[in-house]
Amino acid sequence: ASLFGHVEPAPKDPILGVTEAFLADPSPDKVNVGVGAYRDDNGQPVVLDCVREAERRIAGTLNMEYLPMGGSIKMINESLKLAYGEDSELIKDKRIAAVQSLSGTGACRLFADFQRRFLPDSQIYIPTPTWSNHHNIWRDAQVPQRTFTYYHPETRGLDFAGLMDDIKNAPNGSFFLLHACAHNPTGVDPTEEQWREISYQFKVKNHFPFFDMAYQGFASGDPERDAKAIRIFLEDGHQIGCAQSYAKNMGLYGQRAGCLSIVCEDEMQAVAVKSQLQQIARPMYSNPPVHGALIVSIILNDPELKSLWLKEVKGMADRIIGMRKALKENLEQLGSTLPWDHITNQIGMFCYSGMTPEQVDRLTNEYHIYMTRNGRISMAGVTTGNVAYLANAIHEVTK
Ligand code: PMP
Repeated sequence: ASLFGHVEPAPKDPILGVTEAFLADPSPDKVNVGVGAYRDDNGQPVVLDCVREAERRIAGTLNMEYLPMGGSIKMINESLKLAYGEDSELIKDKRIAAVQSLSGTGACRLFADFQRRFLPDSQIYIPTPTWSNHHNIWRDAQVPQRTFTYYHPETRGLDFAGLMDDIKNAPNGSFFLLHACAHNPTGVDPTEEQWREISYQFKVKNHFPFFDMAYQGFASGDPERDAKAIRIFLEDGHQIGCAQSYAKNMGLYGQRAGCLSIVCEDEMQAVAVKSQLQQIARPMYSNPPVHGALIVSIILNDPELKSLWLKEVKGMADRIIGMRKALKENLEQLGSTLPWDHITNQIGMFCYSGMTPEQVDRLTNEYHIYMTRNGRISMAGVTTGNVAYLANAIHEVTK
């Protein structure tokens, strides 16, 4: 028998598999609404002007030395201001343990490993549904998973009553994974009022909220507004964890720029926690990459570049919000009698359409439209050029 004979091919990633199938389709009509990356109105990837400018400023000036184990201090400080607020007392009091991470995925994984190592009896509550990689991350970190109610299939909105019940029924002191904004895959976020009730109930139950914030600024167009949920929890005095990613809001997908932060009781505890996070990173990847971190810290540290970034991130959010309107209007003009309000009520990169796997299969087989079988449409793939075609196909398969 050969050494690796027992190794079976791994199951295809449900998200990355869609793009493979799209690329293999020769049809000129094909549409990729499976992508989890922003596209412009011509369907092309985008590099922000603020990023190009930051790169110009860096060009030829740097050595290639390692960053410290915890990553770039400047980038971490800018990231904390962005997530926790410019005037955060927690930052002033040095109560936040934070390290630069391999984007949002790496931040989640580092937290999961930390949870496993220091709270070995804890579990993680994950919303149903969620970004499928959340399950993989906490599985590989060997943290037992539970799920909590989130989405209401009939209303295609939030199942707030179910969510609150599950928060109340979880054992005191449970860990919950929350999407800070632009919930993936549903695009359904609690309202501010609902976040306040969730935060209150977390306090009663002494639960720990871990916020995955992969879309700050990308959801509403305003990073402050998209941080509202986190700020509400902070106002209520929670210790939180937070995974930040610059993949979407700065378009730095392949640079793997992110930040993991954990609010501690005091500075001494934060120093200890940070040192342990570094200890987990050391045997895995030693230290994080330098280029993306530098781009992030230059942009956020320079008032001119920061305001350019704010303008550009709003531009991306506005294009997506505009495409939501266009898709809904097209469906209504075609005479669809189904309710499509959820298309514009949902927010962020994705529209959880409510289409069945069979309907999605028809979109793919008959119309060359590629997306995940859970009915998730990436609004980033919708353009003025394909929205009518997409709406017509959706109308045909949902009649
Ligand atoms: N969390 C959520 C909810 C996401 O949608 C994504 C991106 N698909 C991520 C985390 C992480 O992405 P990245 O590792 O590229 O920052």
